[in-house]
Amino acid sequence: MQKKTITKLLNLPNFEVREVLEHHEKSLHLYVDLIDPVRPVCSGCGGVHQAPVHSIGWIRVEDLPLFGKRVFLYLPKRKIRCPKDGKIRVEDFAVLRDRFTNRFAEQVYRLTSITTNTEAAWFLSLDDETVYRIDRGILEELAKKMLSPVPVLTQMSVDEVAWKKWHKYVTNVVDIDRRKVIWNHNGRGKGTLDTFFSDLGEEKASQIGAVACDGARGYLSSIKQHAKNALIVLDHFHVKSYLNDAVDTVRKEELHQARKDKDSALADLLHCRKKFILMQGTPSKRQRNVLEQLAELNDRVYRAMLLKEQFLEIYRAGAHKTARANLREWIGAAMASNIPAFVELGQKFFRKRHLILNFFRTRITAAISEGINNKIKRLKRMAYGYRDVAYFLLKIHQHCGLLNPRFST
Ligand SMILES: [Zn+2]
Repeated sequence: MQKKTITKLLNLPNFEVREVLEHHEKSLHLYVDLIDPVRPVCSGCGGVHQAPVHSIGWIRVEDLPLFGKRVFLYLPKRKIRCPKDGKIRVEDFAVLRDRFTNRFAEQVYRLTSITTNTEAAWFLSLDDETVYRIDRGILEELAKKMLSPVPVLTQMSVDEVAWKKWHKYVTNVVDIDRRKVIWNHNGRGKGTLDTFFSDLGEEKASQIGAVACDGARGYLSSIKQHAKNALIVLDHFHVKSYLNDAVDTVRKEELHQARKDKDSALADLLHCRKKFILMQGTPSKRQRNVLEQLAELNDRVYRAMLLKEQFLEIYRAGAHKTARANLREWIGAAMASNIPAFVELGQKFFRKRHLILNFFRTRITAAISEGINNKIKRLKRMAYGYRDVAYFLLKIHQHCGLLNPRFST
């Protein structure tokens, strides 16, 4: 009676509980066996062979916890000689994945989709290696099923992310309507994006109406070649990061100078990059205070920040025509600023002015690129221990793309 109840609770097709082996405060150990021992499935080739059972081994698998106790199942596994390669193979159970039940492995995957492998391992009292194996195994299977063919898309953005020192990059393509990474690949530049378009196919590529990117030459030439109907946009997100970088260059130069001059008041003011990136929109009282001090102490950094502010104003203005006039004016001011980083940026924006102004035609939102970029940065910080780029690419799909169980449709 008791075994029947536990068998029902266990709910693994064709398995029954034969015995409660042990029962401790924190764990429950059950001996389970097949109710109807149909011929075993060969783990070598996936087939069912008529060969006699060679021997029987035992395995222990972990299942989902019950009443706060970890549950371990002990079950016999038959071995057979596979006629295809002549090797002795252990039988395969559809309900198991390695040393776990499928439902346990799914639980692991749900956790690794929202947090780090290390934290998931801690939560489940497993070791990192086990979590990595389950996570990677499921990711690889899902990727085969869900990542190809590449879905139809009408607006996309493409961006590169550094994943390791020494300039190792991966390229991510985002479907703006789905707000998800739909494709990624090792490398960057034209060759890498060409691979995307070749995976996508000519027909689907011609349906793309707009592409946002950072304006780098490699991506541009690939987009022009393959997405012939797309409007190319240097999006707000990248423009903002170019402006931040220019301000930061000026800040570093002035910090260096201030330290050389032993001007500690100024050096203190200039030492933090974050502070200067955050100072946009409506600055807080404290930030305004910093700005006022800066205006008094250092003309160049202050002017650099004003230039950045003025540029961001262009996005607030709205209409394409106004934006064009404002952009022209800004480029003039930057080139006349006498600040090398901004002179250079003025030239860059002049060359890419059409791409910048295309934003006012399609209004591709920068929030998506920015959001995904931040998520990937967090992924890297969370340090999953990416042993190789293939795993990193899969983790991006899991956290920002089609392999996320929270957003699966
Ligand atoms: Zn076989």
